[in-house]
Amino acid sequence: MDMSSTGGASLPSGPDAKKRRVTYFYEPSIGDYYYGQGHPMKPHRIRMAHNLIVHYSLHRRMEINRPFPAGPDDIRRFHSDDYVDFLASVAPETLHDHTHARHLKRFNVGEDCPVFDGLFGFCQASAGGSIGAAVKLNRQEADIAINWAGGLHHAKKSEASGFCYVNDIVLGILELLKVHRRVLYVDIDIHHGDGVEEAFFTTDRVMTVSFHKFGDFFPGTGHIKDVGAGTGKYYALNVPLNDGMDDESFGGLFRPIIQKVMEVYQPDAVVLQCGADSLAGDRLGCFNLSVKGHADCLRFLRSFNVPLMVLGGGGYTIRNVARCWCYETAVAVGVEPDNKLPYNEYYEYFGPDYTLHVEPSPMENQNSSKDLEKISNMLLEQLSRVPHAPSVPFQTTPPTAQVPEEAEEDMDQRPKRRIWDGEDYESDADEDDKPRHRSLNTDGHPMPNADMRDIADEIKEEAMTDAHLPS
Ligand SMILES: [Zn+2]
Repeated sequence: MDMSSTGGASLPSGPDAKKRRVTYFYEPSIGDYYYGQGHPMKPHRIRMAHNLIVHYSLHRRMEINRPFPAGPDDIRRFHSDDYVDFLASVAPETLHDHTHARHLKRFNVGEDCPVFDGLFGFCQASAGGSIGAAVKLNRQEADIAINWAGGLHHAKKSEASGFCYVNDIVLGILELLKVHRRVLYVDIDIHHGDGVEEAFFTTDRVMTVSFHKFGDFFPGTGHIKDVGAGTGKYYALNVPLNDGMDDESFGGLFRPIIQKVMEVYQPDAVVLQCGADSLAGDRLGCFNLSVKGHADCLRFLRSFNVPLMVLGGGGYTIRNVARCWCYETAVAVGVEPDNKLPYNEYYEYFGPDYTLHVEPSPMENQNSSKDLEKISNMLLEQLSRVPHAPSVPFQTTPPTAQVPEEAEEDMDQRPKRRIWDGEDYESDADEDDKPRHRSLNTDGHPMPNADMRDIADEIKEEAMTDAHLPS
């Protein structure tokens, strides 16, 4: 592919082509992992989505892959050695052994992020899918690569957070950066994509754009004025929203903002995190998107015909998560599935309607058109400060602004802002529960920290070793 003539943004199939080569990663054992009784995160939802995909025969329109499990060394490209060693060795039976017990607090493992059977295998499958998806895109063997087991955007370099242990997204983007100059990350999970933003806060080679509920909500970061730092200034974008976002309001922000981002940044690859907790009726979320409104984000990004990685994320009303990710798989391959669900192994979950689409809830949209316009104007103004892609030097050197590494003792004293209050220890049929969200402290804006320097070093290394990259 001649990148110079197209700005690297178009695939051989051409901008008008409707067809896309889609590759899909699925680990058959993923649905067996279990976070524990009453825990809202259920890997089973990925198996339910897969089952719908197969019964709609969408698997015949794409390549199906079983991911290679990511190895400890793959995971260490972002995460710290001691954290990876801990994840690889901890088990429910050994949890209270002396060595592990003292690590639980340090790595934020235990409450929102429990130690469950096969934890590391789950992380390896999730991360293996996203790294594999990046490799497919890098080799130009696919236009779109899907991994519904990925999208675990809260995980930090040395810390689990918000049901996420290993940040498959950061690992996937690092793989993409071996070949692509600029990667755009878009996050439509209801929670701020904090782990990914933090990892790339000080580089212009990744632009992060997160649409999320902001204010008294996990993880507390993602203020509109958080725009990146150092070389990465203006390469992080945050769209803070209130309860009740509907399709019209969401699309009315998403389309013009992403249009502008694509124009000014001209990414060579895009990663879309499709967290489904922004859907109407989510157990933890409080937005009001329909499956079609959610999928419209994918439809819009697909229309640019830039190599696209599509990942999962949150989503706690699991029948709707399965609906959403099945429909989005259909959008990726370019078909419109029948609203009447085919018979499938989890058919009883989808009653009483047994339809693919669900109606939004009759809830108030607490985002006024005036607020939305103000947000849109601020972000478009911010984007106008981004130099147009061809003139951007894309420095790969570490930023000059460096903040001292946080002391370990401080980390232990930080308030834990939990994503889930852990109250319901009922049966697992409890996914119908009313959306619940604990009052969370919202502290200051994220600061660049040691993690970012490491990422910048990593990118610099890639730049030096990979001939595809401009200096
Ligand atoms: Zn979420």
